[in-house]
Amino acid sequence: MDTRTEKEDTPAKKPKPSCKYRDKWDKFIFLKKSRVGDSHVFCKICICDFSTAHGGRNDVCQHEKSAKHKRRLEAQKHAQAMSAFVTRNATEADQVTSAEGVKQENEVD
Ligand SMILES: [Zn+2]
Repeated sequence: MDTRTEKEDTPAKKPKPSCKYRDKWDKFIFLKKSRVGDSHVFCKICICDFSTAHGGRNDVCQHEKSAKHKRRLEAQKHAQAMSAFVTRNATEADQVTSAEGVKQENEVD
């Protein structure tokens, strides 16, 4: 008697449909997974959650075009430019301080 056919008939596990956050929104760099739920995403620019339940990707595009998002994006670009400026100045100040420190050490020696 051949009973192997029954074993071989076991259906292969189907991969789950890819509805993960990464697959959907990873190309929008300003988005993060929302704590509110899968129907929401978190905008890193606006620091807010918004729903994508109705339009999905279209909701994201609408949000990206919104005046609020654009305004905050510009503000953030400006802030980044400012912080880069501040960091450079701080580095220069550090260099001066350490140079002075070396000089003092030499004098003590
Ligand atoms: Zn936004």
